[in-house]
Amino acid sequence: MKEADGTKEAGDLIQIKSDNTLDNGSINGSMKKEKDLKIGVIGAGLMGLTLAYRISKSNATVKVIERDSQPGGLSTYFNYGKFIWDKFYHVIVPTDGSLIGLIEEIGLGSKLNFTRALTGYYVNKSFYSLNGPKDYLLFPLLNIWDKMRLAYTIFYGSRIKNWKKLEQVHLKDWLVKMGGQKNFNKFWAPLLLAKLGENYKRVSGVFIWTYIKRLFKAREYPVEKDYMGYVTGGYKTVFDKLEQLLNENNSSLLLDTVVTSIEPAEGGGINVHYGESVEYFDKVVFTAPLNVLEKVTDPRLCEVVRHERAIEYMGVVCLVLTTHKALTPYYILNISDTQSPFTGVIGISTLVDQEQTSGLQLTYFPKYIPADHAFWSKSDSELKAIFLEGVKDLYPDFDESDIVSAHINRAFKVQPLQVLNYSEIIPKTHTKHPDFYVLNTSQFVNDSVNNNSVVTHVNSFIDEYKHEFQAVNKK
Ligand SMILES: Cc1cc2nc3c(=O)[nH]c(=O)nc-3n(C[C@H](O)[C@H](O)[C@H](O)COP(=O)(O)OP(=O)(O)OC[C@H]3O[C@@H](n4cnc5c(N)ncnc54)[C@H](O)[C@@H]3O)c2cc1C
Repeated sequence: MKEADGTKEAGDLIQIKSDNTLDNGSINGSMKKEKDLKIGVIGAGLMGLTLAYRISKSNATVKVIERDSQPGGLSTYFNYGKFIWDKFYHVIVPTDGSLIGLIEEIGLGSKLNFTRALTGYYVNKSFYSLNGPKDYLLFPLLNIWDKMRLAYTIFYGSRIKNWKKLEQVHLKDWLVKMGGQKNFNKFWAPLLLAKLGENYKRVSGVFIWTYIKRLFKAREYPVEKDYMGYVTGGYKTVFDKLEQLLNENNSSLLLDTVVTSIEPAEGGGINVHYGESVEYFDKVVFTAPLNVLEKVTDPRLCEVVRHERAIEYMGVVCLVLTTHKALTPYYILNISDTQSPFTGVIGISTLVDQEQTSGLQLTYFPKYIPADHAFWSKSDSELKAIFLEGVKDLYPDFDESDIVSAHINRAFKVQPLQVLNYSEIIPKTHTKHPDFYVLNTSQFVNDSVNNNSVVTHVNSFIDEYKHEFQAVNKK
């Protein structure tokens, strides 16, 4: 365990008090300015770090506790050998106002880059470009009437404000009603299978509406709508900066530290257990997924739904290749082929400057899968072999000797399944204990899981609860 904040090494059971003194009387951080409240944040994904940064600007000291050896969670970075880039593919779209706002606020605005991103569709062993009206008109799988109905579905979806009604309708039923069965079978079903597998049948209309909304709302960045963006250096740049700002605000990030239990302290406040330590906080915000919440939280703080309507997540398994030659001209190629082991090809190098990746091509091959999928029990080398076969099927000219590196990256809890009436089963932000809060992606009732929604969620939390964290300033 790291001694990131002056606490003792794991081994002795130490009670750390809110006034920053240890039980042996030594002063922790005595050179630093005293702050009033001591806040714990569990999880150093974008949610936890953005929240911690915002709270640390008030008169509170924040400590973020993270299980992994580096911050970032699902948006973290990975060492590909010759360069470091995101572990999973991440782009910023011009409508991501909250995320772009954060990036500019922390001084990284000049590192934002936007480039035109191309979309492709692979079906019946053929590649189709889907960029702009001309491509849609030429797309051979749908006739002109179907295309008009498809355009109407997207237009109508982008105008919907009352998402609560959509929450009561199965996604499939809504799409068939709007655009017809043929559009559903030929266009939507392959995309939904790619993202949700067979689970798409259980999901409500809100799921697709959130995607339409994200792409069609007013742009917050002055580029064309088919442009997509990234930060120079990838998300590592963002996390390094957030950590630096936290430290400057007399707060800290504790890595390599698994929180094992969270319980109410006597007389108010919260005790957090990790390693052999138990640390007291005046308030704690939990940002990790629900399975962890269920495991570590005392029922006196909050009760995670344990019945049949418990929230399920989709995970992802992803082959990441670095190669000398480009594999795809598209930023995203959606694959409508049930035989393929992956459901999309993400050509990050079509977007990201070659300098960022040591002149190599970086391509991701993801497959979203439920918790009981057979892929979870396979080793990385087994998965690599299966996925590489798929790459060769897709690109018969692909030569394996061109591969510089091949990695399998996995994430178990990525996409909560927005089933019917999902908003009724999410955990509340303010729990039954006044000093314990839950803030995570399972609470996105009318947003898709992306980093813009993460920052929006944090901003709303700060707006609503700032008085409880004493004069927390958002700006
Ligand atoms: C394949 C893929 C592609 C994506 N593409 C995009 C994209 O293009 N654009 C976009 O905006 N978003 C994208 N996303 C979504 C984005 O990654 C998420 O929105 C975001 O990372 C969620 O952040 P979070 O902090 O809420 O959760 P997480 O990142 O899950 O953070 C939770 C943190 O809690 C920690 N933790 C868990 N248990 C414990 C414990 N017991 N003790 C201490 N710490 C613990 C975890 O290690 C983790 O760091 C993508 C995600 C994936 C997987």
